[in-house]
This record gives sequence, structure tokens and C-alpha cells, in this order.
Amino acid sequence: MSYSDPNKYYVGFWKESAHMGWIPGARVWTELPVANTSSLSSDQQTQLIHLLKRAEQVANRTEYFGFSTCRLCGICNGGEEFEWKGFVWPSGYMHYLLEHHVQMDERFEAFLRMEFSR
Ligand SMILES: [Zn+2]
Repeated sequence: MSYSDPNKYYVGFWKESAHMGWIPGARVWTELPVANTSSLSSDQQTQLIHLLKRAEQVANRTEYFGFSTCRLCGICNGGEEFEWKGFVWPSGYMHYLLEHHVQMDERFEAFLRMEFSR
């Protein structure tokens, strides 16, 4: 079990997430994602999505119990979690970026660029 690992950096989890029910108090919450449609051009957004896809191809996957729903539109939004080199993010993170233009966590973005930009 690594859910409360203080050496991991959690990205894209919401404070009221359903995960809290079964991993009480274990999460190290990052700041809530902020909807942002102005700071990235569509090219930059596309590039970030591409980097995230590459990360998800190599990342370790964990299926968690049940599914989360999107906090903004309510769709069923995945039931997996990805972990790669100390970063942890839910499979639904992609949806927030794609559909709601949520601003990516800066540290995570820098990591993705370093790891996957070629
Ligand atoms: Zn949504």
C-alpha cells in the first residue's frame, strides 16, 4: 500500500473525492484544479494532452474500487489511477483537461515535459 506515501505527489484529486471514503485521511491533496480557458493556446493544450497520453502508456495502473464522477459535468469518469516516478493521477484527469480545460498542475506539467518531450 502506498496510498499515504509522503514521497508521492498527487495530481488532480478533488478534496471531496469518493476515494476518501476508503482511504481516510491518506491523501496528500494538491490544490483544487482551476478551470482555465485563457492561459493556454489550443496548440499548447494539445501538446500537454499528448504528453499525458504518453505517460499513461508507461505508467503503473491501479484499479480502485468504484468509479469517480466528473465534478463539472457528472459523467462517469474512470476507475483507475496512474503512477509514474512519484507522480500519481487519476484516469479521469485527462477528461478534465480535454473537456473542461482545467489547468494542469505546474509541477506535473514540468515533469511531463522533462520526461516525454522529445
Ligand atoms: Zn466533465
